[in-house]
Amino acid sequence: VTAVAALEERAREIRRIAVALIHEAQSGHPGGCLSAADILAALYFHVLDVSPETHGRPDVDRFVLSKGHACPALYGALSLRGFFPAEELGSFRQLHGLLQGSPTTTIPGVDATCGSLGQGFSIAVGIALGKRKLGQAGRVYVMLGDGELQEGQVWEAAMAAAHHRLDTLCAIVDYNKMQSDAPNEQIMGLEPLRPKWEAFGWKVVEVDGHDLSALLDAFDAAAATVGQPSVIIAHTVKGSGVSYMAGVPSWHGSVALRDEEFERALADLGVAGDDLGRYRFRG
Ligand SMILES: [Mg+2]
Repeated sequence: VTAVAALEERAREIRRIAVALIHEAQSGHPGGCLSAADILAALYFHVLDVSPETHGRPDVDRFVLSKGHACPALYGALSLRGFFPAEELGSFRQLHGLLQGSPTTTIPGVDATCGSLGQGFSIAVGIALGKRKLGQAGRVYVMLGDGELQEGQVWEAAMAAAHHRLDTLCAIVDYNKMQSDAPNEQIMGLEPLRPKWEAFGWKVVEVDGHDLSALLDAFDAAAATVGQPSVIIAHTVKGSGVSYMAGVPSWHGSVALRDEEFERALADLGVAGDDLGRYRFRG
């Protein structure tokens, strides 16, 4: 198994867990979890210098999921990476449960409480500035949704990061071209997106966000950038990996998946029959 093939299998497993969590909770946002799964696999199984043992130390990498509604995919990645036991996946969206419908710093491995769009990006800029002021090693990564880029706060943070030449900061835009109700271009268009980031002083790398080999190259290019922050514009498909969700805005969420929809989704992701039992987490 090559490194890339192993990452692809991690991404598939992240997708299965995300869909299963949303099915069990009868609530959640599958579309943006599925578009982000390959990026999260690259981050947690190749890029990020952090582990369950080192998380919380000042000199390790940090990751902020600014598009917090995609947390079922983050929870999948964190559980697979060993930050908390798989049994905790059953707590998703349960009252008093560990794993709430947006990520919180009460969860092992989570670096910022997010969900109000635009704010996580500013938190990440602050973390990167703080690390520099305190002389701490480690890079800061932050994932934004494309609909999230319509928040004015994002561009204030982008301006600040470039002003401070935060080359330890890497943003990833999950550019699935859709938001809650419709394509971005119908709500408030983002194009031309690359020149916008460049005009704000950022190094831009564009990549197919479902090509793990290309994603690893993009993260390498970001890490090699000196004197300015980097943004990876990852072109993705909302609902990627599940045939009936791919490219369909209504699967943004929050949706209640019927049993037959769950089974069709898992079949698309290579799991059927008795193996479905592995994706039921509530006792
Ligand atoms: Mg989107």
